[in-house]
Amino acid sequence: MKIETLAVHAANEPDPDTGAVAAPIHMSTTYLRAGDGSYPGGYVYGRSENPNRAALETALAQLEGGAGAAAFASGLAAIHAIFQALQPGDHAVVSQDIYHGTQAMLEKVMLRWGLDISFISFDDLNNVRAALHKDTRLVYLETPTNPMMKIIDLAEVITLAHNAGAKVVVDNTLATPVLQRPLGLGADISVHSSTKYFGGHSDVTGGAVIVKSTDEFFARIREEQSLAGAVPSPFDCWLIRRGLATLPLRVGAQAANALRIAEFLSAHPGVNCVHYPGLPDHPGHAIARKQMSPLTPGPSPASGRGGNASKFPGSLPLGAMLSFQVAAGEAAARKVASTTKLFTQATSLGSVESLIEHRASVAGESASTPRDLLRLSVGIEAAEDLIVDLDQALNSV
Ligand SMILES: *Cc1c(COP(=O)(O)O)cnc(C)c1O
Repeated sequence: MKIETLAVHAANEPDPDTGAVAAPIHMSTTYLRAGDGSYPGGYVYGRSENPNRAALETALAQLEGGAGAAAFASGLAAIHAIFQALQPGDHAVVSQDIYHGTQAMLEKVMLRWGLDISFISFDDLNNVRAALHKDTRLVYLETPTNPMMKIIDLAEVITLAHNAGAKVVVDNTLATPVLQRPLGLGADISVHSSTKYFGGHSDVTGGAVIVKSTDEFFARIREEQSLAGAVPSPFDCWLIRRGLATLPLRVGAQAANALRIAEFLSAHPGVNCVHYPGLPDHPGHAIARKQMSPLTPGPSPASGRGGNASKFPGSLPLGAMLSFQVAAGEAAARKVASTTKLFTQATSLGSVESLIEHRASVAGESASTPRDLLRLSVGIEAAEDLIVDLDQALNSV
């Protein structure tokens, strides 16, 4: 089945007991035990398992083409569980270009815990080749990267890592399985902040680990989930499962909008540089084309979606995140971010409403993000309105 169908139907059947078409929320933390000591419903205790969590995990595994999934209370809890499934002394090769919270968690928690981590640039894959050694168990990366939207060749990284006996983990939050399926390309684990596109409405925090095989490593991730207990609430699982139903629609509309905005910004005199992998002049465009699937265009160009501007032949809606550098510098960039009316100045990404952010002041002083850079998370509003909004903000500086 296609992802649009799975998004609606995976683990989402009418409730056999009541006929309810929308799934009931199972708040119970404990479950009835039968006279013989068994658990007739198959559930024992809320930290270990819950019907809403099980449905979410089944749906996520199907959307991402995995054999299993584990849902967590946040994206960082999911990422943490993967690293805790390693042993102290194990070596991991981690891209420098990752979510700043992941970097901080690895440095502040996992180094102290005894992991050996090489943080390296994946811009040149010879760095990856050189960093791998006999104790390397994991290679961890994001593509597209955030906020520079660089593209890393997944097939090449996977070959290098597997030749060295290491698993590959891809944080697939930005692309979502609608645009990129790392497990299908050979990666072992896909991890997500469900807070972003899965939830899709800026109203629920969550995370997910999805695996190609339910092997011993996944069993340890499961152990982390139930014994460390960073589990999502039944209501949060329900909200995220509900969000998944519209994921392909939302990402399709958002990416089509993002492409139009990227084209608009490319032609704007107040903008120095646009970072969007769907533009043909983006340095990672050819690899992005290879490993990300462009979406079917939206309903019709007349509705403001789909339709490529002829000025940019070959451009594709590869994602709904982009960043750009304001020609007049940092102060002007900050002014633009506080002058938009439809783009809300706030951190986070992936929701139906468009957000704008001066990334360098959020990611911290140590981050290498250019000071004149603004990051956009493009929502589902009409592209025309979003463009008018950006235009008036850019023209104000
Ligand atoms: C937000 C984010 C995370 C962390 O997820 P939380 O749900 O905030 O814990 C990890 N990776 C990426 C790419 C993110 O955008």
